[in-house]
Amino acid sequence: MAEDPAAPDARPVQIPARIHAVGPGWRGLLERLHEQIRAVFPGYRLLDLKEKLGGLRVYVEGPPGSGDRLRSLIALAEVEAEHTCEFCGASGRIRTRDDWPGG
Ligand SMILES: [Zn+2]
Repeated sequence: MAEDPAAPDARPVQIPARIHAVGPGWRGLLERLHEQIRAVFPGYRLLDLKEKLGGLRVYVEGPPGSGDRLRSLIALAEVEAEHTCEFCGASGRIRTRDDWPGG
């Protein structure tokens, strides 16, 4: 079946197109999130993907009624990112000013 490249939403921007906006340590969980979203909403569109205050932020748009499902999938990935080093992928947690040195 031929794809019409001019058709709207034929090739929406999805997570892989913007995966380099964040560090390599998060790519694995982002690839998994992409597969999870695509499994239920293949035509989803990525609106934004970025690091903010040490956390991962992913904004996507899906078909009508998809919001709750999308938010819950993304929330899981964002929580996982909080415990994953953005740069090397090692598990850890965000440091706060209350952390003991070396803790
Ligand atoms: Zn690291």
